[in-house]
Amino acid sequence: MSEQAQVTDSGPRPIVSFLKLDPKPHLVAVRCRCGAVYPDVKRVACSKCGATAPFEVVPLSNRGTVHVFSVVHQSFPGIKTPYITAIIDLPEGATVRANLVDFSPEEAERDPHKVFGIPVEMVTSVVAKDREGHDVVGFAYRPAKN
Ligand SMILES: [Zn+2]
Repeated sequence: MSEQAQVTDSGPRPIVSFLKLDPKPHLVAVRCRCGAVYPDVKRVACSKCGATAPFEVVPLSNRGTVHVFSVVHQSFPGIKTPYITAIIDLPEGATVRANLVDFSPEEAERDPHKVFGIPVEMVTSVVAKDREGHDVVGFAYRPAKN
């Protein structure tokens, strides 16, 4: 077809292998025969039942709920603090760790019950450039907009 339809090597790169950018950003996981789901496409064995790869790769929902969170006040040089890091429960049974954005860390500390269990949706953004100059895309969650 047209040259624009060709796959090129110049596009953005996901920050982790289980973040897929096409056709729309989403996470993927491997699912074991026992039902355990791991957001990690390179997993070699199931820690629940001991089965070994290959596993089925399944897409994960872009929506989940905040299981638990923590406000980070000290981080690496160059990382702006405070920010909220959270464990997000996804409907497929997987959990992922990511930052919670669009929510005030001060308010989260003042009233944690405004954060626990709230519905969230995944967002992506360019977080860095790699050595070849490609955009590196990371993911985070924000309170879901209905
Ligand atoms: Zn298993």
